[in-house]
Amino acid sequence: MVDERIARRERRRRQTRRRRLRAGGALLIAAAAIAPAVGALGGGGSSGNGGKTAHPDRRRGSNRIASKTSTADWRPHTGPVPILEYHVLGAAPADEPYPDLYVTRPVFHRQMNWLDEHGYEAVTLEQVEDAWYRGATLPPKPVVISFDDGYRPQFTYALPELRRHGWAGVLNLKAEGSDLYPSNVEAMIAAGWEIAAHTIHHLDLTELDAAQLKEEVAGSRAILRHDYGVPVKNFCYPAGRFDATVIAAVREAGYTGATTEVRGYADPAHPYELDRYEILGSGGLAGMVSDLRSGES
Ligand SMILES: [Zn+2]
Repeated sequence: MVDERIARRERRRRQTRRRRLRAGGALLIAAAAIAPAVGALGGGGSSGNGGKTAHPDRRRGSNRIASKTSTADWRPHTGPVPILEYHVLGAAPADEPYPDLYVTRPVFHRQMNWLDEHGYEAVTLEQVEDAWYRGATLPPKPVVISFDDGYRPQFTYALPELRRHGWAGVLNLKAEGSDLYPSNVEAMIAAGWEIAAHTIHHLDLTELDAAQLKEEVAGSRAILRHDYGVPVKNFCYPAGRFDATVIAAVREAGYTGATTEVRGYADPAHPYELDRYEILGSGGLAGMVSDLRSGES
């Protein structure tokens, strides 16, 4: 099944590769071969260029974001880190069954401004893991801002909003049937965003048989790596549903971390049960602030 999906994508993949090759440079050839191009940018270890060197596959040079390059105040960080979880940015339609999954754009704007004004800097989960497990550095008040499923406003609104602060987010992308065009996802990657897997069909993983589970967990990683040439190190459980069998499948598929919807700060001791704060429309700015403060030790 996954092989068929990959074959269907092959034409688009070749187009992407041609674009990358046209941009020139050996790094691009490596990127097209599913090298960890984004990983090479992250990890806080490549700070020598002062952000001036444009990576050749970052076609939109102005998208380069500050937080991908560590600055003087970044330090080793092995403690818990808050991860925020967003779905749709915008007003919920009148007939929407889950209106709380919509955070309006003015509220999101105020939430991001509040984080910035209070010293938070958004980083990717990969950057957090590099600090937790490999001695890399993080800003003094790191936060991960994650977006689930792949809704259009995550590209049209969240991408420019985060870029305004010099930040990158994490896109937990359904491998099939998201609202985002491949070019949207590529632009987010170019801006430093991390792409994490969120299965293929967004099913409750605790209800699948072994073959289906492997297909959704390992298959989604294969598709995203193939489509976008990025490492896809992390996984996000649909609707936060997981159990020991699901965790084993996630580990077996080669992911190094997975995010839940259990409220709290993500803890490096539990890489496959990383807590997140689901930000709901009804909570407003005060809800996000109270989430962050409730988890502070
Ligand atoms: Zn989801």
